[in-house]
Amino acid sequence: MRRKVIAGNWKMNMLPNEAISFIQELSEKVKDTENEVVLCVPYTDIFYSVLNAQGTNIKIGAQNMHWEEKGAYTGEVSAEMLKAVGVEYVIIGHSERRQYFAETDETVNKKLKKALSVGLKPIVCVGETLEQREQGVTAKIITTQTEKALDGLEPADVEKVIIAYEPIWAIGTGKTATREDANEAVKQIRQKVAEKYGQETADRVIIQYGGSVKAANAKELFEMSDIDGGLVGGASLKAEEFSNIVNYNK
Ligand code: PEP
Repeated sequence: MRRKVIAGNWKMNMLPNEAISFIQELSEKVKDTENEVVLCVPYTDIFYSVLNAQGTNIKIGAQNMHWEEKGAYTGEVSAEMLKAVGVEYVIIGHSERRQYFAETDETVNKKLKKALSVGLKPIVCVGETLEQREQGVTAKIITTQTEKALDGLEPADVEKVIIAYEPIWAIGTGKTATREDANEAVKQIRQKVAEKYGQETADRVIIQYGGSVKAANAKELFEMSDIDGGLVGGASLKAEEFSNIVNYNK
């Protein structure tokens, strides 16, 4: 039985003092959940978030990392640095990074391998644009992105990767994929994992849905057969709303 993982992506929001009060409020509200609760915070919030999440069931993640260990990469942060400050998860290849910061399937693959090598749990994002959906090439786009992201990994490592299916047209727009469409896309990704790494691996890999998830639609999405929780942007910025998403099955 796969566990539901519900991860907030704060993007470029929240000052350290806001992060601290958020975590104090959220930890109380989600203390009884069996779902995995993750907050992917800006780098500047990591230290305070990790400290304040100690003794709670909230795990802290980052939103990006570099694939090299160290060196002349001004402005970048390595997987080793994240690990050293207590980060457990890292988002890789979010569509905003692909769109605004020139991330490619190749850099996503390098980052994924690096994250796994230091014991970080990667959340790798795949998803189609509206144009691609209208052209009927969604399955091709998301399975190719998945294949390229996971290229060269052993099945034992693939099991440790979380894949987030995030249709780009649904991110931050208030538009959500129907639960049937979202489940179908997640199944196509799982099928690709099965083809490349075997059914057992595919049955174990956690695949989330992301794109305008909120308390009002979390239950219908997360109850679908193949959707193992969600990656949540805007609705993860309010502790009450995010806790209601985490507690969707209460
Ligand atoms: C995201 O940033 O990954 C996301 C899904 O954002 P939102 O929930 O705001 O659509």
